[in-house]
Amino acid sequence: MEKEVIHNRMPEEKSLNFIEEIIEQDLSSGKYERILTRFPPEPNGYLHIGHAKSICLNFGLARKYNGRTNLRFDDTNPVTEDVEYVESIKEDIRWLGFTWSNEYYSSDYFDELYLFAVKLINKGLAYVDDSPSEKIAADKGTPTEPGKENEYRNRSVEENLRLFEDMKNGKYKDGEKVLRAKIDMAHINMLMRDPIMYRIKHAHHHRTGDKWCIYPMYDFAHGQSDSIEHITHSICTLEFVPHRQLYDWFIEKLEIFPSRQYEFARLNMTYTVMSKRRLLQLVNEKFVSGWDDPRMPTLSGFRRKGYTPSSIRTFCDKIGVAKRDNLIDISLLEFCIREELNETAVRVMAVLNPVKLIIDNYDENITEELTTENLPNDPGNIRTITFSKELWIEKEDFMEVPVKKWFRLAPGQMVRLKSAYIVRCESFTKDEEGNLTEIHCTYIPESRSHNDTSNLKVKGTIHWVNAKTAATAEVRLYQRLFTVENPAAEEGDFKSFINPDSLTIIKNAFIEPHLQHAEKGAHFQFIRNGYFCIDKDSKPGALVFNRTVTLKEGFKPKSD
Ligand code: ATP
Ligand code: MG
Repeated sequence: MEKEVIHNRMPEEKSLNFIEEIIEQDLSSGKYERILTRFPPEPNGYLHIGHAKSICLNFGLARKYNGRTNLRFDDTNPVTEDVEYVESIKEDIRWLGFTWSNEYYSSDYFDELYLFAVKLINKGLAYVDDSPSEKIAADKGTPTEPGKENEYRNRSVEENLRLFEDMKNGKYKDGEKVLRAKIDMAHINMLMRDPIMYRIKHAHHHRTGDKWCIYPMYDFAHGQSDSIEHITHSICTLEFVPHRQLYDWFIEKLEIFPSRQYEFARLNMTYTVMSKRRLLQLVNEKFVSGWDDPRMPTLSGFRRKGYTPSSIRTFCDKIGVAKRDNLIDISLLEFCIREELNETAVRVMAVLNPVKLIIDNYDENITEELTTENLPNDPGNIRTITFSKELWIEKEDFMEVPVKKWFRLAPGQMVRLKSAYIVRCESFTKDEEGNLTEIHCTYIPESRSHNDTSNLKVKGTIHWVNAKTAATAEVRLYQRLFTVENPAAEEGDFKSFINPDSLTIIKNAFIEPHLQHAEKGAHFQFIRNGYFCIDKDSKPGALVFNRTVTLKEGFKPKSD
């Protein structure tokens, strides 16, 4: 097999990652009997490979330590959320191979969260602020200057209770009032400068309908939801480090179950973008065919492209759990699927850029049956293929004026047809524009594979399909979606770096006829052309294949 160059590959022998260390300590000290993690997607888009990292981590930890994981839809923003997303997220998690203990929604906790807010008001730790959002932002100060307290900060508990209730009852318009925590306007952590807990939004929610017109902010919903569920280890990405202090403050002041937050580096991958906001733009502006376009870094995109759940789990495992942000080479993910399919994918022959090869000395009335291996290293696992006078081969396997060390077809030169005979090229024809139209060969009857008595040594073996029995198919080849490593980090619109050649459609490839009956979800190696699967657009009589990955890493990443 080809030798692979692996970038960012972690050592095989595994030590505990920092979260595992914390968990082992918490279990051995008796702090917890059993761990409970959660995966908290916001249902505002499809899951991407970055989410897979979080899923594998949260569910993986629970699996390893005999704990449990909740699936919690973080649906506190009524405007961007949709049931379509909820369903796709569940499908993707199941597909990855994980099962959640409970399915929850942050919106299930709206009543409880409201009471939590009332409790803080009663403790003198929250107040209703009438300032417009610009004023609130301006009064926050800067990292080097303290913020300003305003006149609403000292409202009485009674007034705050009444106003908050009025907010809930729809007495005010969007933006007229907010509820803020009363912490410290000079706090060194800007997020602690009286953060907003509730805002008014007269919007329909996909689960609670029109019951609420006030919605909790992330910081007042996430930690409290963790606590309500008794999540022991709440694992999130590094951008939430500054939020941890607030997370702890709310829990302490509310005197509720002390969930703890731990942060790891989010997964970033080369030649793609990884935020739902950007992915949504690609979908809405039709740069791709949908969330499951095989060029998308979404789980549904990878699934459609032919990635297996295990290849994605292996990838997540290999990249490990980092504490500092990094950019993972997409070729590592490709390595994982390639390595797996190399073991499992049945080898078949398909010709993507066909030219007719005619064997002049072969009887045109004969269709011969030959055998070929389904998998290398498994000699007993064979199937029958047919051979006749006219075959399809790849145009690239012929060269009129061969370069040095050309071991494939050229005038007078011999090559082995995979699992069949050795042929010698006798002549070729071209059309008026100079395009190759036919190649004429003679075959060596004694050179039949598995029974070769010809004593001929040829260096090249090429694949072919019998023209008499071949089926046709559309074949879709994919390249990187972007031309630069980190499109989101470039100046200007990330969409200006979209690779115009990211999709090549071959309308009329020739394939072995049995592939017409291949099952959806089956994986094949088209010999010498890569690994392929059947696309969902495929129909009987109009087959469509996707290239999952090429056979070799065709793209050399910069070494740094
Ligand atoms: P995006 O930035 O793509 O919109 P998000 O963080 O807003 O993602 P959520 O639905 O809130 O998306 O994410 C659910 C969980 O997945 C969170 O715990 C989040 O930290 C985690 N997550 C999201 N993106 C990544 C990533 N690239 N790498 C690792 N974990 C991620
Ligand atoms: Mg989010």
